[in-house]
Amino acid sequence: MIYKRSSALFAEASAVIPGGVNSPVRAFKAVGGEPIFVKEAKGAYLYDEDGNRLIDYIASWGPMILGHAYEPVISAVVEKAKKGTSFGIPTEIETQIARLAVSMVPNIDKIRFVNSGTEACMSAVRLARGFTKREKIIKFAGCYHGHSDAFLIQAGSGAVTFGSPNSPGVTQGTAKDTLLARYNDLENVEQIVKANKDEIAAIIIEPVAGNMGCILPADGFLEGLRSICDREGILLIFDEVMTGFRMARGGAQELLNINADIVTFGKVIGGGLPVGAFAARDEIMNYLAPVGPVYQAGTLSGNPLAMAAGLAMLTTLNDQPEIFSNLEEKTAYLHEGIEKVLSNTTLDYQINRLGSMISVHFTDTPVVDFETAAKGNNDTFKKFFHGMLAEGIYLPPSAFESWFLNDALSYADLDKTIEAIEKTVKKL
Ligand SMILES: *Cc1c(COP(=O)(O)O)cnc(C)c1O
Repeated sequence: MIYKRSSALFAEASAVIPGGVNSPVRAFKAVGGEPIFVKEAKGAYLYDEDGNRLIDYIASWGPMILGHAYEPVISAVVEKAKKGTSFGIPTEIETQIARLAVSMVPNIDKIRFVNSGTEACMSAVRLARGFTKREKIIKFAGCYHGHSDAFLIQAGSGAVTFGSPNSPGVTQGTAKDTLLARYNDLENVEQIVKANKDEIAAIIIEPVAGNMGCILPADGFLEGLRSICDREGILLIFDEVMTGFRMARGGAQELLNINADIVTFGKVIGGGLPVGAFAARDEIMNYLAPVGPVYQAGTLSGNPLAMAAGLAMLTTLNDQPEIFSNLEEKTAYLHEGIEKVLSNTTLDYQINRLGSMISVHFTDTPVVDFETAAKGNNDTFKKFFHGMLAEGIYLPPSAFESWFLNDALSYADLDKTIEAIEKTVKKL
């Protein structure tokens, strides 16, 4: 494939945008080489600036669950745009999407819309702290909850359970309130909770992790967190920015049959426009301004274009729940195909999948947390990624990201992908 124009555009971008991108993972740092620039996309396909067609497995990192340029979403946005793009005054469509979201998701009474998943998680933590009048939170190594300070924390040294900043600019003061636990390790959580008795406001978790590849919660793990939270007066926050409206109509809460206290959304809920949201039962949500004391606001929150896109998206998913089982079947088909190909090689590999999220890790150890995800052979992944790109398959440009299937993918696309994997791994 030729990437001449992408390469020129990347050079131009790099002169005026740090690293040429507005979000780091796009820059291909984890896989080497230069990013491609997209010109347009339709259904399951991306078309780049050099005229290459690629089968897309990132779906804008999740939102495009129905494929790109999905007609009902596009026309809803176009029609709305003609009537003005922002008012800073209430609009009826905000209630319409809120009502629909509340009817789809278990265990929530009210929802507040923001502009990104980052904002949703940041606000959910503030709300949890305000509600419980406690300051610390527990997060899990390898889970991503956006780029706000409280989440950019890595494991502290030795026996200390509190984290240290993993980005310059995050203060020690912030880091000391974020405690880091191992995913799928309930005993570890128990220890941390014990050492910080009555100080923990919330445990925040991706109920199915998607930011260290796809990692499934072990049997009993989320149930265990639920009972620790109940016992200790801690709020359980499910970060469903990835899994919400993707795993099922009601997200991971529904699929895994566990209730969280606060749920955060992003990605699918905005239909490809910048939207996040957080939701809970009345008792908690009424702590928010203007009803309650916890402040949270946004000039463009509930923006009419974003709400129109989100409403069209959620309406489709609500009316056609078979989309979720179709996606699951397609992902299972891909899983089987990859398994068949890789089992005929000498490569070490693990395939993790739930619903329409799947990831391949080149390691012989089951991938259950950040540590085991980090054992994957990154050299193999890099070659695999570039081999697939050359075959016209766009995978996430990092071994630490889940692949996201979209409903526009046909079985022919999946077969083409499996063939591409066969060709690619032969050269590894
Ligand atoms: C993408 C993501 C976020 C951050 O959302 P942004 O819209 O990028 O700010 C938070 N949590 C999870 C689980 C995510 O996947």
